[in-house]
Amino acid sequence: MKTSKRLFVIIALLGAGFAFAADTKPAAPAGKKAGCCVKAEGAGAACSHGCCVEAAKVGKNCEKCKGTNVAEAKK
Ligand SMILES: [Zn+2]
Ligand SMILES: [Zn+2]
Repeated sequence: MKTSKRLFVIIALLGAGFAFAADTKPAAPAGKKAGCCVKAEGAGAACSHGCCVEAAKVGKNCEKCKGTNVAEAKK
């Protein structure tokens, strides 16, 4: 029954993905925060990663840590 076990793992991962998506549902489509930053925020602190600090300074989510930003029109 290896197949059913694998299926269970996939379902579990999907469930976790849905839970995560619901948990971080943004009020506005302003990109996605990096996992480390979300964790730090959850703990009531700012992320201490240098790259995240730099990104936050310019009002962005750290893309190095898998965060995303809304693509702005390039000037
Ligand atoms: Zn971070
Ligand atoms: Zn970062």
